[in-house]
Amino acid sequence: MDLGALYEEVILDHNRSPRNWGDIPGATHVDGRNPLCGDRITLSLQVEDDVITDVRFTGEGCAISKASASMMTQAVKGKTRKEAEAIFEGFHDLVMGKAGTAPPDKSLGSLRAFAGVSRFPARVKCATMAWHALREGLSRES
Ligand code: ZN
Repeated sequence: MDLGALYEEVILDHNRSPRNWGDIPGATHVDGRNPLCGDRITLSLQVEDDVITDVRFTGEGCAISKASASMMTQAVKGKTRKEAEAIFEGFHDLVMGKAGTAPPDKSLGSLRAFAGVSRFPARVKCATMAWHALREGLSRES
């Protein structure tokens, strides 16, 4: 299989210049780990009145994990807990290939770039690590 198909331009861009990179002092911190690939992130999360007011991350790992964390922070910032859950579910179905041959849900926006991950099962954990950290953070905030 063509590995190149996995690295859409938008993924490479977020890997080179991750958005929302950094730490939020005093916020909830969650560590994400993917030992299979060596990916690690620390997510900082701030929730006020059920809205994700700020989310940032630091860490190291492969291009998929870093780009996924970067694009996740952009996708959920300013969203309610429920909206963020819905985005995660859509993203999870996408990378698990559950959507089948149907075109990816437009509401996912640039996250659709990860559609190719479904053909590389070993990379699914890379793509979802930051999202699992977000979920854990949200559960601690409730
Ligand atoms: Zn990885």
